[in-house]
Amino acid sequence: MVEVFAVASGKGGTGKTTTTLALGMALIEEYDVTVVDADTGMANVLFHAGLTGAETTLHDVLAGEAPVETAVYDRFGMDVVPCGTSLAGFREADPTRLREAVATLAENTDIILLDSPAALGSRSAVLPIVLADQLVVVLQPTVPSLSDGLKVQEYATTYGTDVAGILFNRVTENAAIDAVAEKAKQYFDGKMLATVPESEQVREARRNNEPLLAHAPTSEAGDAYREAALALSVGTGHSDAVADRFRSAVVPDEI
Ligand code: ADP
Ligand code: MG
Repeated sequence: MVEVFAVASGKGGTGKTTTTLALGMALIEEYDVTVVDADTGMANVLFHAGLTGAETTLHDVLAGEAPVETAVYDRFGMDVVPCGTSLAGFREADPTRLREAVATLAENTDIILLDSPAALGSRSAVLPIVLADQLVVVLQPTVPSLSDGLKVQEYATTYGTDVAGILFNRVTENAAIDAVAEKAKQYFDGKMLATVPESEQVREARRNNEPLLAHAPTSEAGDAYREAALALSVGTGHSDAVADRFRSAVVPDEI
């Protein structure tokens, strides 16, 4: 079986990468997990997962210069496919090759988490959301963030991607979280997966080039992510069927 989740949001800096790796580490208790840095223009999985020295990355794969298997690194119990950060690498990358890359990875894992680009402004930005089975929307507890997230949800549902749920990140004590959560329940499909606090441990983890659950497994933020992982429904799609779907997926021209 394999299930593909896109972790996305309307804007950058909401905590998509932090969330992707935290969910991934929570899910390895039960599943084989592969994390892919599909945010090919603003890649930062490599910083969060101690992979800045990676020789081959998704950029090389998307440029047609390396098979995806050579860009998979065993980190913190997960298979991690980092992406490079150079503009040249981004320019050379053909986003449509992501279909074949994910199809290949799907043959050998239970869960694929696609750390997805923020803006829905280009083919490379929408592809992970179009290809995934389910969408996890990362939001900050503000009305503008909800409004951005709704656009992502609308896009996903147009292409048949289910909404697993929403996750509030960087919640501070004085955030009007109850009012915002009430609104979110009205407008978003899926579950309220978790409320992750603004946390020094999250920042520290990033500075140490480690995922949160490796750096501070017993933190409040870590607990919230474990709760979110438990709330995800992992489907039982057959790997071959998922691989075929990815290979034959049509990439939207107009967005
Ligand atoms: P994105 O991938 O959406 O751009 P990141 O996960 O890289 O966002 O997070 C952006 C920055 O915010 C990072 O420096 C990260 O450490 C910090 N951050 C994310 N979530 C939290 C949190 N809950 N508390 C404190 N800092 C956070
Ligand atoms: Mg990121």
